[in-house]
Amino acid sequence: METRMIAVPSRTKEILDRYGLRAKKGFGQNFLVDPVIVTRCAEMSHPEGAVIEIGPGIGSLTEALAKNAQHVIAYEIDAGLIPVLQDTLAPYDNVEIILQDFLECDVADQVKRLKEEYGQVTVCANLPYYITTPVLFRIFSLGNDIPYITVMVQKEVGNRFAARPNDPDYGALSVQGQYLYNIRKLFTVPGRSFNPSPKVDSVIIQFERKQDADLTIDLDDFFNLIHALFKQRRKTIYNNLREYLKDADKAKQILEQAGIPEGCRAQELDVKQIRDLYEVLR
Ligand code: SAM
Repeated sequence: METRMIAVPSRTKEILDRYGLRAKKGFGQNFLVDPVIVTRCAEMSHPEGAVIEIGPGIGSLTEALAKNAQHVIAYEIDAGLIPVLQDTLAPYDNVEIILQDFLECDVADQVKRLKEEYGQVTVCANLPYYITTPVLFRIFSLGNDIPYITVMVQKEVGNRFAARPNDPDYGALSVQGQYLYNIRKLFTVPGRSFNPSPKVDSVIIQFERKQDADLTIDLDDFFNLIHALFKQRRKTIYNNLREYLKDADKAKQILEQAGIPEGCRAQELDVKQIRDLYEVLR
């Protein structure tokens, strides 16, 4: 019986060779070859109940999740990887692989079913970099049903989510994410931990849902305003808001009521100040 983890470099190489596989750039494929990283990532992801994974690849992280969770559901878009996963994950009877584009699946229904059966549902994945943000926003839309999302992303994206006001990386992504979640960077993953090695480092970040975030507001509308405020970073908040509202007087009046100086820039404001501004606008 095979005793090496899938994420051990020699085993990954053997699997890729045996199936004649080459990582497909178009699907953002970089396979983790670091057993310590996959183990830590899985253990820190709050995997007590069911875990949803996006993009299992050849099963490196899936295996570590299977050892910790009651149940794992993994969505993979690449049909060529299904026979590989059936082979590599054969020893684990708590893993379900679904051949589907995660952005197309009925994930809300799946979450409801998993929650009923396993009590808690969390997400853990090494995300394909070309769809990191749409995948995350899809999960964000599931609301409080997903208390923890633990994902590996490019370092730059992780920095943007975790940035605080006045940081150079602070922007719309930071405010949108931090309105709904406490966001922590867990650890950095160097390029050499992947096969093939990407040029940039990655980071594992964890989103912990704020159970008290006000969801009575129209989130899409609020997020549109956030985008507009950061649209041109060099412009003052007044100029960005004026453009968004197409009304100079209204923009002036709203900023005054919200107690925000016209000359400041969106990157100086914290999440609460931007939320207050939205409240006045509404
Ligand atoms: N989890 C594996 C690992 O850590 O070694 C592979 C991670 S690799 C960065 C991203 C994976 O996501 C690939 O297996 C890729 O085929 C898959 N993928 C890409 N787009 C996807 C989509 N829209 N839905 C589901 N899986 C997708």
